[in-house]
Amino acid sequence: MVRESARDFAEKRLKALAQRLDEEEEIPRELYAEAAGLGFLGLMLPEEYGGLGLDYASYVIAMEELARGSAAFQVGVTVHNSLVCSAILRFGSEEQKRKYLPRMARGEWIGAYSLSEPGSGSDAGSLTTSAVEEGGTYKVNGTKAWVTNGGFADVFLVFVSTNRELKNKGISCLIVDKGLSGLSVGKKEKKLGIRASDTREISFRDCRVPKGSLLGKENEGFKIALTQLDNGRISIAAQAVGIAQAAFEEALSYAKARQQFGKPIAEFQATQFKLADMAVGIEAARLLTYRAAALMDRGLRCTKEASIAKLFASQACNRTVYDALQIHGGNGFIREFPIERYFRDARVTEIYEGTSEIQRLIIAREVLRDSSRAA
Ligand SMILES: Cc1cc2nc3c(=O)[nH]c(=O)nc-3n(C[C@H](O)[C@H](O)[C@H](O)COP(=O)(O)OP(=O)(O)OC[C@H]3O[C@@H](n4cnc5c(N)ncnc54)[C@H](O)[C@@H]3O)c2cc1C
Repeated sequence: MVRESARDFAEKRLKALAQRLDEEEEIPRELYAEAAGLGFLGLMLPEEYGGLGLDYASYVIAMEELARGSAAFQVGVTVHNSLVCSAILRFGSEEQKRKYLPRMARGEWIGAYSLSEPGSGSDAGSLTTSAVEEGGTYKVNGTKAWVTNGGFADVFLVFVSTNRELKNKGISCLIVDKGLSGLSVGKKEKKLGIRASDTREISFRDCRVPKGSLLGKENEGFKIALTQLDNGRISIAAQAVGIAQAAFEEALSYAKARQQFGKPIAEFQATQFKLADMAVGIEAARLLTYRAAALMDRGLRCTKEASIAKLFASQACNRTVYDALQIHGGNGFIREFPIERYFRDARVTEIYEGTSEIQRLIIAREVLRDSSRAA
């Protein structure tokens, strides 16, 4: 049911709009309202907070289908769900849950996740945005980079240093409402792919955030960031599967329709081998993604499996869009055909929520740890 409803929305609304959104580099807020009406902005939230109460596996299936329609739209939805809503659900006080979650499930408030900074990306623990306690508030100063949904978000999860000496053990997480004095939103980044997604810098200049906005405990923010990234990585794996599936479907129908040397190019073995490799990559990526989601649903630690899914799916996606574009020949290189957009959108799946290099570091660390435990 989840897949059908997400596919229906993706086919009827997202696919139809994706090219225009890409050209205009903007997603109308109404589209989020529509998605909220179908439950996509509170998929995993319990019903008492206005969500659908679905498990992570269902969520991943929905994200895969939305990405098949528009990866630029889907990424904003995953940040909202798996990075922001799920963090508030897991680490928030009852008061925070009641304040934020029902409004977020209804799409009245959209979430953004601010971990990265101009000077700290892969090494997120070296962030420098500071929060100093002063008269019942935190005085926040610093700049955050790459904030997805940044231009229209209502709720920002912001990771700040509350004790610089403790390095990543001195990081805390604040829930920051938009409109606070001292919080400013920068210009929209002009991107290669997922162009409609709103990506910005945000800056804090003596911004006073109430102390009650602390999510979880002080100096335990890095744990929140890492826990949420396991979630987020599986969502990006699902995004990669969705983009790859869309590119594969385009390549398949183009190969059957396009004739050269008196026959459809699908009859050439060179084309068939590309299609076969795409099918293998997508199926394997999908299964790895579902496995990680199933572990998450069972409450098991799945850092390694989330990274394996993200690494494999993002690389399979990039190989798929490359071959799918090749099958289109010159037509793959122009904007008349959606493959050109899939090719651009795929690239970022190897960058955000931890680059492919960082996924390899995590996987290596985990397998080495497993092997020394077994010894
Ligand atoms: C479109 C987009 C949206 C984003 N949305 C968000 C968001 O909503 N919230 C958020 O907090 N962040 C967001 N990000 C930031 C994203 O998570 C970072 O870009 C990513 O983590 C990489 O950091 P960096 O860009 O600073 O690259 P760097 O960390 O500077 O890395 C540069 C290169 O060095 C390599 N490298 C770095 N360290 C190592 C190492 N130890 N070993 C081997 N290689 C290494 C990297 O793999 C990469 O190839 C977004 C980014 C993009 C592009």
